[in-house]
Amino acid sequence: MTQGRARLNTLGPMDVELRVIACGLCHSDLHLINDDWGISEYPLVPGHEVVGRVVAAGEAVNGLAVGQRVGVGWLCGACLECPSCNAGEDNLCAVPKRTCLANVGGFASRIRVDSRFAHPIPEGLSDLQAAPLLCAGVTVYSPLKRLLPRSGRDVGVVGVGGLGHLALQYASHMGHEVTAIIRGPGKEKDAKAMGASSCLDSTDAAQMAAAEAGFDFLLVTVSADLDWSVYMSLLRANGTLCLVGMPAATIMVPIEFLVGEQKILTGSSIGSRDMTREMLDYSAANEIYPWVIRMPMDRVNEALRILADGEARYRIVLTA
Ligand code: NAP
Ligand code: ZN
Repeated sequence: MTQGRARLNTLGPMDVELRVIACGLCHSDLHLINDDWGISEYPLVPGHEVVGRVVAAGEAVNGLAVGQRVGVGWLCGACLECPSCNAGEDNLCAVPKRTCLANVGGFASRIRVDSRFAHPIPEGLSDLQAAPLLCAGVTVYSPLKRLLPRSGRDVGVVGVGGLGHLALQYASHMGHEVTAIIRGPGKEKDAKAMGASSCLDSTDAAQMAAAEAGFDFLLVTVSADLDWSVYMSLLRANGTLCLVGMPAATIMVPIEFLVGEQKILTGSSIGSRDMTREMLDYSAANEIYPWVIRMPMDRVNEALRILADGEARYRIVLTA
């Protein structure tokens, strides 16, 4: 663990400096603070759903101007020359620069990032609406776009938190039949308002058994380890279970699911820069907005407690 005071990186020729306006609070910030993944470096300044205004630009910056409103997500840079970057999948860069690890994140008043990872925010999105989209939004939009090219599929969204509540909106808007799979009935009314046509209570064994083999696609947004066999059972043959939630877990499922039933167990990591910009435009054009609780940045510790207690309905956004 390194000690000391977190500092801004020097402003490189391709970098911009942003004055932070708003920053969403993602469960990944909690995982980082707790070092759940064993990758945290301290001192650590979390925050990777950042909306800010450009206050300075390096001499080689192209296409962004001082004063412009932009957003930054999990990545603040990438090599842009490895095979993944060359294939347009910079979210899979071999040497990624993560906003809260490579530099100070959006809980700071100013951040510096590679200008190519600062995304212009469409006019139709307010600061509070845009911030959660930079991580939560693209993380659920990307697998729905990539893995479900045809509409009309039976889609289950497991967990209705920051990611899940946006997944319900995108999936229903993309023309799927969407079920929210949640613990207990507490969020049912909200889930239906977000586009779920039905809800499944994951704590009710009879309901879960009756739902077996009912889904083409499950998007798992939960931050905890689950009994994965139960969820694989909900899929039809050839169905896909896609994890976006990141519990610190090793996943084991009976091979019968993968071979005998040809089910696919996969995951999805945030989204590329192109996907991020497409998602921002899609959200603005289709009026897909996060449900936000606004809190001032000086209440960040209280906000972290609310998130850890599972009480954030559905995304806390901290404002400068
Ligand atoms: P969040 O707002 O705290 O939501 C967490 C969700 O997990 C809630 O829906 C909650 O269900 C569910 N959950 C928690 N404990 C559970 C348990 N024991 N059993 C069943 N469900 C449980 O978190 P978030 O910001 O949406 O992030 C969710 C996960 O996605 C985190 O692990 C985060 O690190 C990860 N993430 C991944 C990426 C990526 O690139 N793949 C990007 C961003 C975030 P209830 O609604 O029933 O309380
Ligand atoms: Zn995140």
